[in-house]
Amino acid sequence: VVSRLPAVGTTIFTTMSRLAQECGAINLSQGFPDFSAEDVLFERVAHWMRAGHNQYAPMAGVPALRQAIADKVRALYGASYDPEHEITVTAGATQALFTAVAALVHPGDEVIVFEPVYDSYVPAIELQGGIVRRARLAAPDYRPDWQAVRALLSPRTRMIMINTPHNPTGTVWTEADLNALAALTRDTGIIVVADEVYEHIVFDGVHHQSAALYPELAARSVIVSSFGKTYHVTGWKVGYVLAPRALMTEFRKVHQFNVFTVNTPVQLALADYMADASRHLQLADFYQTKRNFFRAGLAGTRFELLPCAGTYFQTARYTAISAVPDTEFVDWLTREVGVAAIPLSAFFGDGRDEKVIRFCFAKRDETLTAAFERLGRFC
Ligand code: PMP
Ligand code: GLN
Repeated sequence: VVSRLPAVGTTIFTTMSRLAQECGAINLSQGFPDFSAEDVLFERVAHWMRAGHNQYAPMAGVPALRQAIADKVRALYGASYDPEHEITVTAGATQALFTAVAALVHPGDEVIVFEPVYDSYVPAIELQGGIVRRARLAAPDYRPDWQAVRALLSPRTRMIMINTPHNPTGTVWTEADLNALAALTRDTGIIVVADEVYEHIVFDGVHHQSAALYPELAARSVIVSSFGKTYHVTGWKVGYVLAPRALMTEFRKVHQFNVFTVNTPVQLALADYMADASRHLQLADFYQTKRNFFRAGLAGTRFELLPCAGTYFQTARYTAISAVPDTEFVDWLTREVGVAAIPLSAFFGDGRDEKVIRFCFAKRDETLTAAFERLGRFC
């Protein structure tokens, strides 16, 4: 078979979760909670199933859910998205990102991504014949360098893909960053894809800077979010896209032949659940407490903890413990210490090794405590 993606193997998340399971390691690698969502959410799914809502939903999503999303986005970001034409429910953020790229990137178009970059972006671009241009987010603070981004612009730049709060580094972009992006793309045809799946997980009283807060930027942005992160149900694979009508029209042309539509009773249940805004508003405090607990638990080790302003990931430099490449380090950590993590090199096209790994702290305190005990012994 002549591969369309010759450089691509199995994702690091699959690889590390499998290794964790094989070794009986505590899995702090792939990002998902090990605690349950609330029963009331499951009851709503059962309710809608029993009530007979088990056939195809409308292509763009259940109207009640699109309305609930519109209400949330207006309340949080002051932006008006028309549920009829500007909001689409997707099979998670992964499908949303892939479909956005497929719908909007032509062969030969250049797409700027920020590295370390979430693993699904580059293959999505390359499958469309797009050309990837990489802007570096440099350790230890991983902030964007807007001069460097400007230098990457060309007449062929079609899209810029951003992600704030950022996986894997936990960086949160500022108002100045969004203003710089708006200035950079002003009077261009550049489309921004804003991956905001961790929009509700921002710490220390800082506010998430959604592209939706900036009308000029929102006018050329496709904004992506995911219920998996917000409601502790990553396995449900439901997310959504916001975009102005002209962009959404193109998005839906692909979406309808990609998944057509998404699980009906789950959409109805999410619409009910969203009605109580405290459920997403309390998430920042909930995970801030976990972050603080996790950082305190590792304070006695030789890991150098990098800043974590958002997401449920903590990055750590391990140079005081070992000099091996990060892939070898996580292999040792999983097999010998019994704690799985993700090597940051997986987020670099050239496998750049900064001797930094990523832990997921979306876990029960007992799980984290057991991990502290193991890490404390070896690290
Ligand atoms: N983007 C980022 C930055 C993510 O971290 C993830 C998942 N962890 C996704 C997209 C994919 O989200 P989903 O599971 O909803 O497809
Ligand atoms: N986004 C999750 C993470 O960063 C993993 C999702 C996946 O396995 N594709 O860990």
